[in-house]
Amino acid sequence: MVIQPSHIERLNECISKASRTVIVTHMKPDGDAMGSALAMYHFLKKYFHVTPEIVLNDRFQSCLEFLIDKKTSEDIHIFSEDQTAATESIETADLIICLDFNAFHRTDRLCSHLERSNAVKILIDHHLNPDLANFDLTFSETAISSASELLYQILMAMPQINGEAGALPTETAAALMTGMTTDTNNFANSVYPSTLVMASTLLAAGVDRDYILDRLFNQYGENRLRLMGHMMKDLLTITEDGAAYMILDQKTLAEYDIKEGDTEGFVNMPLSIAGVRMSLLLKEDGNKIRVSIRSKKGTSANMCARLYFNGGGHENAAGGRLEIPITQAEEYIRHHVHKYFTENES
Ligand code: 5GP
Ligand code: MN
Repeated sequence: MVIQPSHIERLNECISKASRTVIVTHMKPDGDAMGSALAMYHFLKKYFHVTPEIVLNDRFQSCLEFLIDKKTSEDIHIFSEDQTAATESIETADLIICLDFNAFHRTDRLCSHLERSNAVKILIDHHLNPDLANFDLTFSETAISSASELLYQILMAMPQINGEAGALPTETAAALMTGMTTDTNNFANSVYPSTLVMASTLLAAGVDRDYILDRLFNQYGENRLRLMGHMMKDLLTITEDGAAYMILDQKTLAEYDIKEGDTEGFVNMPLSIAGVRMSLLLKEDGNKIRVSIRSKKGTSANMCARLYFNGGGHENAAGGRLEIPITQAEEYIRHHVHKYFTENES
């Protein structure tokens, strides 16, 4: 992928002109969302001598806390915890940089505030179907591992860095490595030649990848592994079409004391079975059900999410939501996933 020099010039100009910059990412922020947001935050601080604010709909996963020091945490405003601070931040911004999502509704309750804002808006994202009309400048690439990798390429092309990874702030380099690592499932999917070049360059620039991996993958509670065992043994069903599904209700989540982020990775596991083409994980969340979908090559998690689960995402990793009682979820999946396979795949 080639980043257009004119886009880089525009980005540089927008950042230089702005007096209040806000960085926004999608709801339930994961490693790529927080990685790309924090990478941009530290880059702006170091090279433009401004203190941007990061505005989130809700709190990030606790395994990402290692990326955030005390000073930085004061510049993060979370709508679900302090509605006034989050909305004021968006309302007073004259530049809003949007990372790792393709349309405002992916920020949930920040959406209407973003729509109302007159700030210059920049999108840096790797999802299908970016909502171009809402942005003044868009960097969109889907043949890439992550928003963090796209941002890495953009920053490397900025005159302040000029292709020299050693010039990236250390926090930026670590955050970019984190986002790329989580979105590729630690190099298991969406890995392009450019992804490995990025990893190699950041390693050579001194990023402590062992530390990042330890924080991301080796700090869960025992409860998470116990739940995984229960799910794989008792809650996994495989249909005749080769769809695997698991349903996690509130009761089970409470019984195992499961927090946001603890179920990360579970939806991928059934794809290890020969003949399984798609895997779905449904999680009860208040009065809705959050859906995660993964698929093997040749089956479109994205299309299934768009058609039947009010969502979208990437070709082989997508998500959505259902607003039906959890007791009806199994019937809903069986019916609609069978419909997906019969109508969309031979
Ligand atoms: P996850 O299953 O890890 O929550 O999400 C996988 C992918 O699907 C991510 O790239 C995410 O952006 C996308 N995704 C998850 N939930 C939704 C949703 O409700 N709507 C849309 N459009 N995309 C989603
Ligand atoms: Mn991402």
